[in-house]
Amino acid sequence: MPGKNGIRDGLIGPARSALQRGAKLVELALFPSFCKICGTLLDAPGEHILCRVCLRKIVPETDPACICCGRFFDGAGGPHACSACLDRKPPFDRHLSCARYRGELKDALLLFKYRRFRSLGKVLGRFVVESLAEEAVLWEGAEIVVPVPLHRQRRRERGFDQARVLAREIGRLQRLPVAVGVLSKVRNTAPQTSLERDARRTNVRGAYEAARPDRIRGRVVLLVDDVYTTGSTIRECASVLKRAGAKEVRAVTVAQA
Ligand SMILES: [Zn+2]
Ligand SMILES: [Zn+2]
Repeated sequence: MPGKNGIRDGLIGPARSALQRGAKLVELALFPSFCKICGTLLDAPGEHILCRVCLRKIVPETDPACICCGRFFDGAGGPHACSACLDRKPPFDRHLSCARYRGELKDALLLFKYRRFRSLGKVLGRFVVESLAEEAVLWEGAEIVVPVPLHRQRRRERGFDQARVLAREIGRLQRLPVAVGVLSKVRNTAPQTSLERDARRTNVRGAYEAARPDRIRGRVVLLVDDVYTTGSTIRECASVLKRAGAKEVRAVTVAQA
């Protein structure tokens, strides 16, 4: 006897995909949509915001990276720490990003952050988990995911908090609790993108606070943000978390500029 999904379950592959194609044709006729990166018509089932060709160009970086701050090195080389980390060890224990901030990945991040294509957060969160799946240094023993917070005024303007959306997807896929509000931004700073390296460091100094130290004390924290540029934000947040008693602070970003 067919269950309530009997009809659908009864369809074999080709029939089902014909049905999906039919539904897609109706959708296309009524609401045609185009890839927000390359502008081609999204006409394949499941395509949404970005086309398959653009999505396929979002791939993890293969260049080696600093074993501490995660900064990519140009070309080959064994695992080592960069000169900046050898000079001064960062307050975080480890940072990894998936790729360089360029091409389709940069476009996707900009669409996500500034043009409010919030659902790209799922695509990008999955990209993080899949790109860094083998990185035990990141996941093993991690206890709690903490997004780099936006100031509440900025969050209100933007309508959502991009690091929080990413953190939720990463936490969901890795079955880790996500702690929102544990870290808070207490001072609204000038956008980091408008500043030079040294100014970025002073810009974020004292801008974050551990609002719930009880939730981080003695724990291994995974800090999440979208883009790593000079690392000032991640450093500042990691210092705050460490001062609040975090046992370890590991950080992960989608891309590094
Ligand atoms: Zn495209
Ligand atoms: Zn380094």
